[in-house]
Amino acid sequence: MDVIYVDNNATTKVAPEVLEEMIPFFGDLYGNPSSMHTFGGIAGQKIEQSRERVAALIGAAPEEIVFTSCGTESDSTAIRAAIQSNPDKKHIVTTRVEHPAIKSLCEHLAKKGYRITFVPVDRKGRLDMDVLFKSLTDDTAIVSIMWANNESGVIFPIEEIVQQVKERELIFHTDAVQAVGKIPVDVGTLPVDMLSLSGHKIHAPKGVGALYVRKGTKFSPFLIGGHQEKGRRGGTENVASIVGLGKACELAIDHIGEQNGRVGKLRDILETGLLKQIPQAMINGDPENRLSNTTSISFEYVEGESILLLMDQDGICASSGSACTSGSLEPSHVLRAMGVPFTAAHGSIRFSLSIYNTEKEVDFIIEKLPPNIARLRTMSPFWKENG
Ligand code: PLP
Repeated sequence: MDVIYVDNNATTKVAPEVLEEMIPFFGDLYGNPSSMHTFGGIAGQKIEQSRERVAALIGAAPEEIVFTSCGTESDSTAIRAAIQSNPDKKHIVTTRVEHPAIKSLCEHLAKKGYRITFVPVDRKGRLDMDVLFKSLTDDTAIVSIMWANNESGVIFPIEEIVQQVKERELIFHTDAVQAVGKIPVDVGTLPVDMLSLSGHKIHAPKGVGALYVRKGTKFSPFLIGGHQEKGRRGGTENVASIVGLGKACELAIDHIGEQNGRVGKLRDILETGLLKQIPQAMINGDPENRLSNTTSISFEYVEGESILLLMDQDGICASSGSACTSGSLEPSHVLRAMGVPFTAAHGSIRFSLSIYNTEKEVDFIIEKLPPNIARLRTMSPFWKENG
């Protein structure tokens, strides 16, 4: 299917080089990496090569990488490991704009008696650092702050946060699922204790992720079972996908310049082109400090879902900042936390680009979207009243 895919924060295309390296492990090389024989050992060695490649992307030592099934599992493992290692501590610090992988788990833990500080953000999606630092206490079991936001693209000042958290000798985890591969990440210079990443955001397949666990961090496995991953995650490894993740990490090192160069320029062309032609449109987020591939734009007085449908008819794939819950369209918790006005939050669209996008595709979106917004507005009673 021929599509213009600008929804790369949702998932990415598997890179052809990644697929090529994975295929033998679906076919001839089906051995179990834990087997004693040489045949299984081939899979085992390939997993270790992948561990080295993942480690190289984030400046870790290979033995600090634990393979998981996804970013969500990495996040859950980190938080559960911290609270199990510190059973007397009953406080968790996180933000109001985390991905549900962290948000829902924290809400669940709140029902089990944990006190959760959800640090607020301002209108541009920037963290309230004062609230964050004041919330840290000796009772804090873990501080978990995402590195970059999946909706607004806003990058949090992780360096500054980690420094303060570590001065108090507290455990720090970052959900770096949207940061890895898009901005430089180096745990060699940044003393985070744990860091989550996910394969399908960086051109590896879905269903594979990794958790970085700094050497010496108290850890307990989330999946208790066999001795895989040095006893840190039971379950026979998803060999082909781990191989894919390793290759994707290797490619990501080569592509990070392009992400922040060419892809950033394409995002800017898209954003400028749309804002120039469409009145009452605004950027959600901090233009000074965002992922170079992401823009969240609100088109006032139209429904995001209707915009998506019309874009879909033109073969353009993006996301809206609202979701249909119990028959009504609810703006996302991220846009609500940022205080985006109701009429704008409803009409917000996230475009997230990748190295596979071209200027021709961006021009096509700039050509197609403005008349569609104008058309939707002619049907909007809110636009007639306020536009
Ligand atoms: N964290 C962030 C910031 C994400 O954007 C996502 C996925 O969208 C996840 C966690 C979950 O990753 P996965 O889909 O691999 O479980």
